[in-house]
Amino acid sequence: HADLAMHHAKDSGRANRQFYQHSMDGRAPLEELQLERLLRDAIQRHAFTLHYQPQVWLDDGRLAGFEALVRWQHPERGIVAPDEFIPFAEARGLITPIGRWVLHEACRQLKAWHDAGLPQVPVAVNLSALELRQRDVVADIRQVLDATGLAPRFLEIEITETVLMQQGTSAASMLAALRALGVRVSIDDFGTGYSSLAYLKRYPIDKLKIDRSFVTDTPGSSDDVAIVTAIIQMGHSLQLQVVAEGMETAEQQHMLRALGCDLAQGWQLSRPLAADQIPGWWQRWRQAAG
Ligand code: C2E
Ligand code: MG
Ligand code: MG
Ligand code: MG
Repeated sequence: HADLAMHHAKDSGRANRQFYQHSMDGRAPLEELQLERLLRDAIQRHAFTLHYQPQVWLDDGRLAGFEALVRWQHPERGIVAPDEFIPFAEARGLITPIGRWVLHEACRQLKAWHDAGLPQVPVAVNLSALELRQRDVVADIRQVLDATGLAPRFLEIEITETVLMQQGTSAASMLAALRALGVRVSIDDFGTGYSSLAYLKRYPIDKLKIDRSFVTDTPGSSDDVAIVTAIIQMGHSLQLQVVAEGMETAEQQHMLRALGCDLAQGWQLSRPLAADQIPGWWQRWRQAAG
């Protein structure tokens, strides 16, 4: 089912991308209006769903957490991937209600899993550039934690390296406020931006997630192996945990483990799954691990 959903998301995503690029040229204002109307409607009806991708420790295979990834349940196109509507939602000022729903739903779901006896691991939620710029994002997060009863240490916020670099000092104070709250912070898609070591040191960060593009061609590409090695060493020298994104093969798993990478996420372990598939995945994972 997960595979079906993925292919479906890909196909609909492709259609949507064409649609979006077309409308960005200003040649199809009606279509753009229609997309905005559909998205507004989706927000009102909460027509979104979260898929969860497990993250595991590379040394012993223990479950380390889940990343929540939003999908739009589009009336005609089926499941639409986030890259196809998050940028549009940001441009139209519609990201705030979507982000709040994601945050609340992820925290609610994780609390339910904890209560049901799944491991006491955190959930990671992605925050976009615009959300980060909102003055009250930390207050929103605190409010959602209160409302769902999830302890702050079980929430992780993912911010991309590029966004972090763009926001400068305002990001630093926001991250400090999150840290004070007890929420953890990860730098997503690391290696695609241009952050200096000095910059990284200045931010209260817990984790680096090596961008998938550097992992994809390992271990075949010696350049990419060198980059991944360097990121792991740099992260460790700054006392950060390092996560490899997009681990798709057993060879990559062996390499990353040998390089001392702490954690991994990727199709080799599991695709992002609908919430109701997670308990079953966990049972199978636990049995396989012995
Ligand atoms: P991301 O945070 O870097 O998420 C990782 C993406 O890589 C996900 O795509 C995931 O499905 C995909 N992925 C995971 N493992 C593998 C693998 O082994 N191979 C390959 N080829 N892909 C893998 P997805 O779910 O389409 O999300 C895309 C991006 O959309 C995310 O990138 C994130 O930046 C953004 N996003 C997702 N959910 C949210 C959300 O709730 N709010 C915001 N603001 N952005 C979100
Ligand atoms: Mg992420
Ligand atoms: Mg990423
Ligand atoms: Mg990404």
